[in-house]
Amino acid sequence: MLKIKNYINGELLEPLGKEYIDNYNPSIGKVYSFIPDSDERDVELATQAALSAFPTWSVTPKEERSRIMLKISELIEKNLERFAIAESTDNGKPVSLARMVDIPRAASNFHFYATAILHYASESHSMEDTAINYTLRTPVGVAGCISPWNLPLYLFTWKIAPAIASGNCVVAKPSEITPMTAYLLSELCIEAGLPKGVLNIVHGYGHKVGAAITAHPKIPLISFTGGTKTGAEIARVAAPMFKKLSLELGGKNPNIIFADCDFEKMIKTTLSSSFANQGQICLCGSRIFIERSIYEKFKTEFVSRVKKMKVGNPADAESKLGAVVSKSHMEKVLSYVDLAKQEGGIVLCGGVQVKLDGEFAEGYYIAPTVIEGLDYNCRTNQEEIFGPVVTITPFDTEEEVLMFANSTQYGLASILWTENLTRAHRMASNLHSGIVWINCWLLRDLRTPFGGVKGSGVGREGGFEALHFFTEPKNVCIKLK
Ligand code: NDP
Repeated sequence: MLKIKNYINGELLEPLGKEYIDNYNPSIGKVYSFIPDSDERDVELATQAALSAFPTWSVTPKEERSRIMLKISELIEKNLERFAIAESTDNGKPVSLARMVDIPRAASNFHFYATAILHYASESHSMEDTAINYTLRTPVGVAGCISPWNLPLYLFTWKIAPAIASGNCVVAKPSEITPMTAYLLSELCIEAGLPKGVLNIVHGYGHKVGAAITAHPKIPLISFTGGTKTGAEIARVAAPMFKKLSLELGGKNPNIIFADCDFEKMIKTTLSSSFANQGQICLCGSRIFIERSIYEKFKTEFVSRVKKMKVGNPADAESKLGAVVSKSHMEKVLSYVDLAKQEGGIVLCGGVQVKLDGEFAEGYYIAPTVIEGLDYNCRTNQEEIFGPVVTITPFDTEEEVLMFANSTQYGLASILWTENLTRAHRMASNLHSGIVWINCWLLRDLRTPFGGVKGSGVGREGGFEALHFFTEPKNVCIKLK
């Protein structure tokens, strides 16, 4: 069976402790490869490699950095099918989704920042004829990038690309649950001629590798995407060390549907925003609020379409949902269905594990689940489930639904369906979230600021926001007379 290797100082290396972790294929519930169980010694090796590479990479002309990154982007595109299958095998998601979304987006991340860096200019502030200020923005040094399992390569490259584009070197850790495409990426980085030490990928557990990156005194900035609890732990360690922190955390996003919406468009998109990637996208709208006058119509139509969504072999083009990422995650999601019932919820469809035949019999499949009858403030409606489970709740007024929507500790994204432009603007400005999608979902322009408020995170990624994060501004003031 394949043994994944760390990528340190331009080479593919075994972990120093020679220990490995089982890597499961969730669609069949079986081990199919091994992941390095790295520790702080591997992180140290990677950090030293990054520190050695930094003086040269940080002054490498941006045109050259851009050229290498464009090459990586091209290689990802060239290997699209291989990467899509690898992502699906590792994560359980439909291959079609990885082919359409995850892998093209990883290529775009490199392409976007390879070109963004060419157009990035810093500010200047003139004090009339007294003085002129200009801002120098220099790379910070070694960046620690830690990413989750739900969109493995997509989110991993969303951090790495702006970090290296702006001249930093990186020590990165993908989720130990889905390491395969990060490993394949390291092979492509070698092929593209990325200088050794610029990107180092250390595989292993969060509490070992992730914690060692977070605590390393020579890693002054951490970009993290993952759960809110882990984000708090990272902040606890990194904040007293005065590290720069970007935290992209959990969500419990509202999907607000007014009676005046375009019903057909709304229902089609709501199926995706509820169940894409088995509901394991931080941006999924898991709390659906429907204006009472169309509640029954919505419920009948939505549930009937959800029941038709095929849960199956991720390689099958007909499958709308594949497997969830792991056995323990499946158990966690199903435990929330039990909780919902205890809280008085009525399961309208799903709520159970789906048992497939043949080689998929041991896979981790959950039927898409719709629950009604719950209070907006019960645990099911307040805690992140991160699976194919949505609740539906009627509302009467704009004020009421705003209160429902803003009631959680999270504030990542909101979805809004209405044809009333004035209301759309009013709601958008009053929703407590970093992103508001009106009459759409997951429509992404990589130039826009991305991130959440409250327990959904600190800081923004995307566009120049990320280039700001990965550089240190210095104001230089020159007196003119
Ligand atoms: P986790 O927080 O469990 O893990 C995220 C990463 O952090 C993993 O690589 C993990 O390693 C690592 N990690 C765990 N413990 C530590 C630690 N003490 N120090 C440093 N690193 C650590 O999240 P999940 O992987 O379960 O991902 C799901 C979560 O991510 C959800 O809450 C989801 O909402 C959120 N998310 C947020 C997004 C956003 O943009 N706001 C986007 C996508 C997901 P290991 O795998 O070994 O535990």
